[in-house]
Amino acid sequence: MQSSTRSTWSGSGFVGARTIRNFERTGRNDRRLRRAKRRWRERLKKDPAKYRACVQRRRDADRKRYAANRDALLFRQRKYTSEHRQEIYAKNRDCSKKNWTKIIARRKATFLDDPEGNCARQRERARTLYERDPQARPSYKKKWRAANPEGARAYVRLSGHRRRAAAGGDFIRVDDWEALLKKYDRRCAYCGVQGALIEADHRVPLSRGGKNTIENIVPACRRCNRRKMTKTDEEFRTWLAAQATGSAKETTSGTPGELAEEVGPYRTTRSKVLRRGSARCHSRSRLRRHRADP
Ligand SMILES: [Zn+2]
Repeated sequence: MQSSTRSTWSGSGFVGARTIRNFERTGRNDRRLRRAKRRWRERLKKDPAKYRACVQRRRDADRKRYAANRDALLFRQRKYTSEHRQEIYAKNRDCSKKNWTKIIARRKATFLDDPEGNCARQRERARTLYERDPQARPSYKKKWRAANPEGARAYVRLSGHRRRAAAGGDFIRVDDWEALLKKYDRRCAYCGVQGALIEADHRVPLSRGGKNTIENIVPACRRCNRRKMTKTDEEFRTWLAAQATGSAKETTSGTPGELAEEVGPYRTTRSKVLRRGSARCHSRSRLRRHRADP
């Protein structure tokens, strides 16, 4: 290693390398050494190929050293971490606080590189976690809410505020809503169910720039409204159709097509949802149903 470095760099006029080696041999690390190192690096950078080769050599040497002393190095690292844990945490907190906007921007960019893939991976991860321990997430949330009552209230308030802000001051008159209900025969506009609790659904969600005006409203049962989430009405209908054909294939019960017919098998779970009042509960009961079916 040493001899090859010498022949390469001193032979091509990188005299700084020899200076640095001399300093390193004497074990002194002062300002002159640092200056020499910097000058050497700058000269090297003028020749990108040589610079890359040098970096690569250094990297290889580091890897070799790491492989040879892996256990000792790991032990040293673990020892240091366990002895300075709080210090390290504090430093990390400071660092992330200082670079918060940068970190968020990078996180967003990474997500936007492959939004669908990332969403799929997130879903997959959530599914695995749920299957490992269905109660882990709810109990964590419960604990968090108990420990941060103020934060929990703020969270709810904020979501309401966001909705109102997105609505931009528009509102729906009760007369218009009544007329709309009559027009739809008090049925859900999506699944056609009658007699269920009917809610006002934004065809284009507020979160996606939809307006809080009667033109953007259709009556929907709670179940449809919940599982529509942030889809537009068109996206939701497509999704419903896909679900209908998918579940028909899976369970071989019922014919695809008439959406109202597809509602049948879900009825038992809907009452559960209304009682427990949570969209997540619902999707879980559906998950269980699907798992139990085949
Ligand atoms: Zn519905």
